[in-house]
Amino acid sequence: MSELQTLKERVTAAIDAMRDDLVCIADTIHAHPEVAFEETESAALLGDTLEEHGFQVERGVAGLDTAFVATMHGQKDGPTVAILAEYDALPGLGHACGHNLIGTAALGAGLAMQTVLPELAGTIQVIGTPGEEGGGGKGIMVDAGVFDGVAAAMMVHPSSKNLTRRTSLTSYKILIEFYGKPAHAAAKPDEGINALEAMILTYNGVNALRQHLRNDARIHGVITHGGDAPNIVPEYTQAKFYVRAKDTPYATQVMEKLRACAEGAARATGARLAFGEYAPRYDNHLVSPKFSALAEANMAVLGIELSVPDDRMGSSDMGNVSQVVPSIHPYISIGPEDMGGHTAEFCTAAGSPAGHEGMIKAAKIMAMTAVDLLAEPANLLEVQQSFEEEKALQGG
Ligand SMILES: [Zn+2]
Ligand SMILES: [Zn+2]
Repeated sequence: MSELQTLKERVTAAIDAMRDDLVCIADTIHAHPEVAFEETESAALLGDTLEEHGFQVERGVAGLDTAFVATMHGQKDGPTVAILAEYDALPGLGHACGHNLIGTAALGAGLAMQTVLPELAGTIQVIGTPGEEGGGGKGIMVDAGVFDGVAAAMMVHPSSKNLTRRTSLTSYKILIEFYGKPAHAAAKPDEGINALEAMILTYNGVNALRQHLRNDARIHGVITHGGDAPNIVPEYTQAKFYVRAKDTPYATQVMEKLRACAEGAARATGARLAFGEYAPRYDNHLVSPKFSALAEANMAVLGIELSVPDDRMGSSDMGNVSQVVPSIHPYISIGPEDMGGHTAEFCTAAGSPAGHEGMIKAAKIMAMTAVDLLAEPANLLEVQQSFEEEKALQGG
């Protein structure tokens, strides 16, 4: 058996040995769901556990109370491999995206690496990234330089499929507001400026646009305030839109088209427009083929069969990390193929034996892949080369 294989067997054995503890932690987070940037107990549980095991834990990084970086050095200096934890839940739905499993799998992978790290050159960081569901914690952390010294980053997301090379869409989150002038809707409508008409013109403008957009573009919105009473000309309206596409330059173009629709509606009605991002942008995930190949080989060893990929995808703030550091974001199945994310069914799966099994596999994939990168420097060089190539292709 090669040295690399022996190291991998040791990290997977370590994860098996701590299985009960990991399941208990995942279930504790599942039972106490905390939404974006309010994950106080979840972040503390993961951070405290890492600290108890000798990791040096820095909390509140990047100005985010529930973000942390837990660091453990190897025998000598070398590259830093980051294992990313998420732990935020969905409002009203609990852990319907299974982030309790993501956070705990990252913990398990980090603790398992501890058993081999004294023999390796390099550093393992378990990075706690809050607010994936809409808040964009990772983007904020990228901007704050948290990933500046990181050579490679990974996380695994629970799913209804096993996938490794799925990209994700850039997404803008846009707030549109119109300010009109109230008036009696029957007696003096000529004195009013109708903010609802401006919003509806915007909505219809977007629909007129759809035929002329690339297939991967998505514009979807809701009117969150439509007026106050039918007998008052609406003075104020508000809508939230997402604009998505497979790459950031095109998503930006589409976002500007949305802005033009809103500006046209403002001009037509006389209402005043306020237009802007209400949450940070998520970038598309840049797939690193070489890095994915390492994870795929480890998944094969673990007996995980890849599902047939499809073109259905959302967005993740892991995309922002993938634009600056070679990254993987594989999906691991925890339920039937027709199970949708952000559903009660998914929440149940995230606390079930199938969820626990997926989490253990996820921890093993990440620990084995971290061994590939730290024990075999040629692997990391190839991953970084592949990343630069993809980056150049994307730019052109
Ligand atoms: Zn998620
Ligand atoms: Zn989600």
